[in-house]
Amino acid sequence: MTPVWPTSVGTGIIATVLAGGIAVTALRAGSLSPSGAVAATLVGAVAMMAGRPWGVFLVGWFVVASVASRLGRERKLVHAGDVVEKGAARDAAQVGANGGVFAVAAVVALVWPAQARAAALAAAGALVAAGADTLATEIGTLWRGRPFSLRRWTRVPAGTSGAVSLAGSAGMLVAAAGLAWMATVVGLVPIDALGAVTVAGVAGAATDTIIGAWWQARRWCPACHRETEQRVHRCGASTQPHGGVAELTNDAVNALCTVVGAAVAVFWR
Ligand SMILES: [Zn+2]
Repeated sequence: MTPVWPTSVGTGIIATVLAGGIAVTALRAGSLSPSGAVAATLVGAVAMMAGRPWGVFLVGWFVVASVASRLGRERKLVHAGDVVEKGAARDAAQVGANGGVFAVAAVVALVWPAQARAAALAAAGALVAAGADTLATEIGTLWRGRPFSLRRWTRVPAGTSGAVSLAGSAGMLVAAAGLAWMATVVGLVPIDALGAVTVAGVAGAATDTIIGAWWQARRWCPACHRETEQRVHRCGASTQPHGGVAELTNDAVNALCTVVGAAVAVFWR
């Protein structure tokens, strides 16, 4: 498909309605919050305007990430509800952190067709990195063991940022390869980019883990005497800053993960 700018108003309306329909479905299913549904509609609309492979890849990615987040949600609440910053319904900040770079790449492909190939590589690298990171966390949290903190060099509660487990790391590698493969199957990137996009996904997810271990903002619940990422702990108490860089919230770290994924995919080839 030849991207044309300005895309016809009709295409834009159809793309927005399609993306909005999917977002509302995800909202009803509990995968998106209302603000997340608005953000997802925007990301989805520009993706669909950039071309069918963009839209199909985004929807496929979202289904995989949502299913992973829903699997064993109850068990995860028991295991990680104390630690993780947010619940399963993604809000606008989370959608932006995961899909912002992808959306920017879609706009670049639309307005600058000569750069569409590089934009598609960046988009694939960004989403594969975000997906690999998400699935590593989900699989690692589902696993019944306690992950290992790189910073503290000890075992910590499941869901702690910067902690790794064998199950989570294996899940990350499989997710990176699987999602990169999906990007080639839908035609977003050529088959010979499979390796570069997989490496990009692994690099992005690894960046997320390393920043999460040393620099991500940590908070402390004074009522429970526990470390958490929640601003208001699930016990109801307001938490206090407790190390790390205050600006590096979980969302900021996720966004950095996608930036690294995009950059590696473009420059690896
Ligand atoms: Zn508490």
